[in-house]
Amino acid sequence: MVCLVLVAVAACLGAAFAGRHDIYSGYSVHHVSVQTAEHSALLHSLEESLSLDVWQHGAPDRAAVVMVAPQHRRRLLRTLDDHDVPHTTHRADVAKMLEEYDARLAAWRSSRSSRLAPFDDFPRYNDVDEYLERIALQYPDLVTLVNAGPSWEGRDIKYLKISTTNFTDASKPIYFLDATIHAREWVTTPVALYSIHRLVEDLRAQDWDLLNDVDWIILPIVNPDGYEYTHTNERLWRRTRSYRPDVNATCYGVDANRNFDVAFNTVGVSSNHCDQTYPGTEAFSEPETRYVRDIMLEHLERIQIYLNIHSHGNWVLYGFGNASIPDNGVQLFHVGAAMGAAIDARKLPIALFYRVGNSAILLYPTSGSAQDYAQSIGIPLSYTLELPGYGVQFEVPPEYINQINSETWEGIAASARLARSYYQARV
Ligand SMILES: [Zn+2]
Repeated sequence: MVCLVLVAVAACLGAAFAGRHDIYSGYSVHHVSVQTAEHSALLHSLEESLSLDVWQHGAPDRAAVVMVAPQHRRRLLRTLDDHDVPHTTHRADVAKMLEEYDARLAAWRSSRSSRLAPFDDFPRYNDVDEYLERIALQYPDLVTLVNAGPSWEGRDIKYLKISTTNFTDASKPIYFLDATIHAREWVTTPVALYSIHRLVEDLRAQDWDLLNDVDWIILPIVNPDGYEYTHTNERLWRRTRSYRPDVNATCYGVDANRNFDVAFNTVGVSSNHCDQTYPGTEAFSEPETRYVRDIMLEHLERIQIYLNIHSHGNWVLYGFGNASIPDNGVQLFHVGAAMGAAIDARKLPIALFYRVGNSAILLYPTSGSAQDYAQSIGIPLSYTLELPGYGVQFEVPPEYINQINSETWEGIAASARLARSYYQARV
């Protein structure tokens, strides 16, 4: 009987969400095995010619995950077959997949007895804003709220500075982490908020050193316009929401993580204004990336580590995006490996193990990324962290949010301690 009721509720919720994701009707998602450089090159050429949305770049032991529009599906599959590239259909209809996910999320939320903290859920922009304001108000000796400025659409982009010495002690390194530069990567913002929670509201005995010896800058939503748009219009939106009809009257936004001033518009970008990896007309064309840049430049002397959090794939990546390795490559690997290992030690059995290395060598070449920009201006330890997708990519089941938060915190803590020791050697 209980089952029947639950099935009825799920069916009802499913019906309630039907139609909301019609824009993705007929879109399909495929796993593509990229065993060789030729496979990889072929997929990249198809990415551009068939406007594929690459959800996960492949590696020899991890399949690429790509979404294709219905009108290009046959050509994609035929071309892969013609070149003997193994592939399987992961999702036949993305609209249906998203409707089912909405229903699951709604059922999960209604099953919770108490109101969820914003880091236990996928909070909207206003919930995050409220949380930051409350923390700043409640812990004035520890926390400073900064409004970097408005997004393209006018949302304030706020971050917290957390310090026991009001950012005045030059002997401390700064750890700068940010999230949701890519709008659809929902689970990244809870991780940023949970890090605030652990430092400010729930500091545990083993973490006293992290608060006393390190200053923190935490920016939970780099791209609030895109993020809100994923909640209201297109769940799989990745870019910013800027609109410049004089440049292109059809498509909105750019890939913020290709918009930084480092080897701008060279590799790993698309010249098509409507593609996911379009970098913009010029570096720092977007207010959102300018704010991240300005935080870095303001605190350049003391930021020892920068973590640009993404979802998904279980990767700890560092520069440069053209496959050249910074001079301190061994330190980069050391701290990145400590981060990945600390997370792996807490991971669920079904999750992938983390892989650590240069982003271009492990995955694919890029230019204009936040990771490379930070490294290029002198931040010694700069990383892209790709959180777990649990085989469902951006639609991480809400039951996993707590797990991702707590295991990632362990990685952040481990990297903070090592970063501090390298900072002490530097000053
Ligand atoms: Zn991303």
